[in-house]
Amino acid sequence: MTTPNDRRLIRRLHEELDLAREKLNQSELLQMKWLLKIERLQARVAELERMADDAKGVRCPTCSEPLVSFSTMNERLCNGCGTVWDCKLKEGQPPLLGNNRQGRRVTP
Ligand SMILES: [Zn+2]
Repeated sequence: MTTPNDRRLIRRLHEELDLAREKLNQSELLQMKWLLKIERLQARVAELERMADDAKGVRCPTCSEPLVSFSTMNERLCNGCGTVWDCKLKEGQPPLLGNNRQGRRVTP
């Protein structure tokens, strides 16, 4: 047998429950919003870092001077020491041994 007091308590608990569910939904939406923001920021940072790398260009592993690329020959010429490097060479990568296209000096 439920008393009026019990019914009032049940009604109040239902209201609290509704409120709690609403808060939970809101926080899920908020989490989603921040998650999307984080993904957007990460994509932007990755894009800018890639651009910065491109702008910096590849430098000579020997003397750190910028390399001038000959796209038709797949080779890069060093401004500083005049060494010719393969285009696939990444910054800081040592010359590949046994490849006679690497580290060949240009005679002026
Ligand atoms: Zn050099």
